[in-house]
Amino acid sequence: MVRQTRVVEAVPATTPFIGPEQLMRETGQAQLVRLGANESAFGPSPRAVEAMSRDLPRLAWYGDPESLDLRDALAEKHRCAPDEILVGAGIDDLMGLAVRAFVGPGNTALWTLGTYPTFSYHVIGYGGRPLTTPYRSDGTPDCDALIEAARRASPTIVYLANPDNPSGRFIERRELVAFYEALPSDALLLLDEAYADFVDAADLLPPSFGDRLVRLRTFSKAYGLAGARIGYALSSRRNISIFAKIRLQYGVNRNAQVGALESLRDEPFRRHVVDETARARDEYYRLARELGRSYIESQTNFVCIDFGTASAATRVMSDLLEHGVWVRKPGAPPLDSCIRVSAGTPSMRATFAAALRAVTEVTV
Ligand SMILES: *Cc1c(COP(=O)(O)O)cnc(C)c1O
Repeated sequence: MVRQTRVVEAVPATTPFIGPEQLMRETGQAQLVRLGANESAFGPSPRAVEAMSRDLPRLAWYGDPESLDLRDALAEKHRCAPDEILVGAGIDDLMGLAVRAFVGPGNTALWTLGTYPTFSYHVIGYGGRPLTTPYRSDGTPDCDALIEAARRASPTIVYLANPDNPSGRFIERRELVAFYEALPSDALLLLDEAYADFVDAADLLPPSFGDRLVRLRTFSKAYGLAGARIGYALSSRRNISIFAKIRLQYGVNRNAQVGALESLRDEPFRRHVVDETARARDEYYRLARELGRSYIESQTNFVCIDFGTASAATRVMSDLLEHGVWVRKPGAPPLDSCIRVSAGTPSMRATFAAALRAVTEVTV
């Protein structure tokens, strides 16, 4: 028997994300209302779908390993240079490069306990040392605690999702800049901006990328291309060239390159998604109030609704599943008393609302 590496041997055999397909197999349901993974219920841009369909017969050929057309378009959008951008198979892929490049075996990485988990899987998978600080009681990542821990433990990467998942909270630009500046000068801030497309551009950081900042963006959320697997990193030329050394040259699907480029050209569609998403959030807030439940105001395409205790939230989640509605819930306090529901279409929302009313009558 060939031995695993020591690092891999120490990785626990957990399944990070149990998908709706697996839940359907387990529960014998033929379909679920997918409100659990913050995918876009509003789909990709029809223009992107058309461009991707046109390109399908060319799938015999690899895509451009440099993703140059896409990087040129992104450089224009972000007012930076194409070599300050790296395209990858989604943020989850790009986070792996950042961990491999800057954490590796023995170094410490720091994040908020219970935030979006893929970063932590990479840290553990590459033999890094995990260090976490808790959320504030209102579910905001605690920047002061992160700074203090960073000064104490000298992590090579500090990870922050802004807007945050699963809370949906957004740290304002001024506070974020102060946080960045207060971190030790040898710590890199890995800023996961998966939901930045739902925030006004003026509230985001300006396009200047120092060596201590890597920003991650995706086409999975507002652009509705989760299944295509495409995202990008924005950083300094130095960092991008480091990632380029170890990236998978043909790791990006050519059809995803085509879809992403066309999506960028369809700004009205993105606006439409952002507006529909705001409508969905408002409807979820109203529903929570109707049921006498508190909720967290979100800057993303999902909302956390609080059911008081972790066990109550777990029960609501599994009862919803029996009604054919798939949501998830945060795993760590103080957010673990919530369920997290993604923005759906009006009909998905109606199904969710009816199911939630039905299950909370008996469970709460
Ligand atoms: C959905 C999500 C991702 C995953 O992005 P991909 O580009 O699909 O890999 C990353 N970070 C956060 C915070 C997310 O919510």
